[in-house]
Amino acid sequence: MKAVSIAVDGPSGAGKSTLAKRLAARLGFIYVDTGALYRAIAYAALEQDAQTDEAVIALLPALDISLRYEEGAQHVLLNGTDVSGLIRTPAVSMGASRVSAIPQVRQFLFDLQQRMAREHSVVMDGRDIGTVVLPDADVKIFLTASAAIRALRRFKELQEKQPGVQTYEAVLHDVVQRDRQDTEREISPLRQAADAVVVDTSFADLDQSEDMLYAVCQEKLGL
Ligand code: C5P
Repeated sequence: MKAVSIAVDGPSGAGKSTLAKRLAARLGFIYVDTGALYRAIAYAALEQDAQTDEAVIALLPALDISLRYEEGAQHVLLNGTDVSGLIRTPAVSMGASRVSAIPQVRQFLFDLQQRMAREHSVVMDGRDIGTVVLPDADVKIFLTASAAIRALRRFKELQEKQPGVQTYEAVLHDVVQRDRQDTEREISPLRQAADAVVVDTSFADLDQSEDMLYAVCQEKLGL
């Protein structure tokens, strides 16, 4: 049977990973979080103090990045080490946005992402899945919410993990800055595919948002 692919793109904090994961579970597909791949490269760059684009590019040949699934949860392995927990810091978030603007980094991860979609039915989330990585995806969703609401969600998430570490204003500043970096870069900027369905989660809770995404898939896939 042909693998089915669902592309979910959108800015940071729109709820992509949580919702794409839920959608994948509901459809019985594999969830591929492509942001985690960029984060793994950013983590390696921080670890090895690769500060310039050239230094990051020089690291690539020695990086082996792979995905493993345990009970539906994606784990990212960097040269055999599970870095899934280590890549969720504000420093790595900002670093991921930076390294993702390097063409060689995008090319490096392009093949891995395409292979995943060839071999499995996937819900893949990112910034350029519907436009560049899987232009022929069966369903394309552009998931968004206002910057203030996305920052508030990220702030609450960080508060639960490390209370008091960041203020709401700092999180909002990061969200706006990452949006700018992601939409203004020359290569694979974040933008909506012409044939994507826009889902705005600003005023929807997770269950409602999941139902909206599922309804789009039902219609497009004839479920
Ligand atoms: O989605 P997440 O916040 O984990 O992504 C981290 C960063 O990786 C984003 O800010 C974005 O710059 C980059 N990214 C990308 N293309 C993707 C996924 C993520 O450029 N497909």
